[in-house]
Amino acid sequence: MNKLRRRLLQTSAGLGLLAGSGILLRAQDRGQENMSTEVNQHGGDPGMSQQPRSDQDSDWREFAPADAEFPAADDKLDLDDAQWRERLHGDAYRVLRKEGTERATTSPLLHEHRRGLFVCAGCDLPLFTSAMKFDSGTGWPSFTTTIAGHIDTKRDFKLFLPRTEYHCIRCGGHQGHVFDDGPPPTGQRWCNNGVALKFLPAAGA
Ligand SMILES: [Zn+2]
Repeated sequence: MNKLRRRLLQTSAGLGLLAGSGILLRAQDRGQENMSTEVNQHGGDPGMSQQPRSDQDSDWREFAPADAEFPAADDKLDLDDAQWRERLHGDAYRVLRKEGTERATTSPLLHEHRRGLFVCAGCDLPLFTSAMKFDSGTGWPSFTTTIAGHIDTKRDFKLFLPRTEYHCIRCGGHQGHVFDDGPPPTGQRWCNNGVALKFLPAAGA
């Protein structure tokens, strides 16, 4: 190794150290920037949210019919049993209010492939978009995720094995069970009774 080359190497090693310390300093600066950014975020700029937004659930209104209006998730619909019996009939009542299960392969929604929204048959709250639907081969309409904040879950032990039951957050109507053997990106399979849903085609679908 000649002298010039060794010196160049020494110099670049020295530069490397300097660069290394520079990176540390910059990292500290960045930490402070992040803190201040976070404070700003609490000021309510939704575009800067650090929560990863799912392409599938963030814009469910784009799947709605023109001029459609929907109830808010926190506008609870609290009816007594007699009122539910009047409002829902047959399997819809049995599934939504008594946690029944419809017979596999009987739902016309299995063959629904248009763009649109799946809303609760009990109270019209949108629960899924057509972009969340997939063919699970189980005989029940299936979804990979839900519209955020519109569904609540609980454990049930009806088949002796614990399962996760889910229901509409507005009216409490039972929809189905969620399993962890679904396709990417979520790996979830929201297995829904078709009779507990109504389909509304999107504008132009
Ligand atoms: Zn509902």
